[in-house]
Amino acid sequence: RGLAIGIDIGGTKVAAGVVDGEGRILAERYRDTPGHDPREVEQVIVSLVRELSAEFRVLSVGIGAAGWMDRSGSTVLFSPHLAWRNEPVRMNLEKLLHRRVAVSNDADAAAWAEFRFGAGMGQDRLVCITLGTGIGGGIVIDGRIERGNWGVAGEFGHQIIVPQGHRCECGNRGCWEQYASGNAVGREARELAAANSPVAQEWLRAAGGDADRITGAIVTALAREGDTASINLLEDIGEWLGLGLANLAAALDPGMFVIGGGLSEAGDLLLGPARSAFNRNLTGRGFRPAAPIERAALGPKAGLIGAADLSRVIAWR
Ligand code: BGC
Ligand code: ZN
Repeated sequence: RGLAIGIDIGGTKVAAGVVDGEGRILAERYRDTPGHDPREVEQVIVSLVRELSAEFRVLSVGIGAAGWMDRSGSTVLFSPHLAWRNEPVRMNLEKLLHRRVAVSNDADAAAWAEFRFGAGMGQDRLVCITLGTGIGGGIVIDGRIERGNWGVAGEFGHQIIVPQGHRCECGNRGCWEQYASGNAVGREARELAAANSPVAQEWLRAAGGDADRITGAIVTALAREGDTASINLLEDIGEWLGLGLANLAAALDPGMFVIGGGLSEAGDLLLGPARSAFNRNLTGRGFRPAAPIERAALGPKAGLIGAADLSRVIAWR
């Protein structure tokens, strides 16, 4: 099994790497996701593939994109965080790169990586949640990704969890990702700062005094240093996470939940409160096994590893 390039296109960051058959990353590159033009995103992908394949002999290229892939892996139907609407991503990239490209949803790719090489190894029914700009979901059943009838299964981030709640980029209100993603952490912190709350002091300092520049990553880093306000905010977010997971257990009854993406860097500061909320809300609790909630072993790199690994299967079929 040769080397593959995996590229994970998220709402804010593009992560690329050369990955071997055991899921090890041999080289990696990071870029910001360019603004609102699908052509610019393609150019970033093309330049990353050229750079990495000049250094390594790669056999296949896989993309994980934060969008709703059709089942054949050709077209991104829609993306809440990218400007992709019915975008024939695979065809465009194959023309630009003169080679076959495999495209999947970013969270499906991450779930695949955790199943193959990470915390979900050997699980028959695995649900993996990717917490980043939004919330992505991936379902792996009996060793294959469950993509749904049209390719868009696992869009858990857009379950409406608060009717009439916060507006979501997808156009609805009250989606789960507005309450439990990295973006949700940032938005809550910015709201507190804008309201001149005394709890926002450390966040403001870390953002150079500019409330608009407070991010989920800043809050997570401060929480890990022991800042009480940041820890409390992650507790609130963790509760929303656990509530959503209890709903997913009611629907899917997986053997394990794996939680990845940038916000999972918060570790037990987030997963502790999530586990308690899960156990408090799980339907039939006390009379059924409760699935363990584990942190992703591959962290935020799961997406690129999974995209690379999936390309070995998909690119040649
Ligand atoms: C998108 C998903 C994506 C997730 C994580 C969600 O808003 O709908 O397709 O997997 O964000 O990037
Ligand atoms: Zn939504």
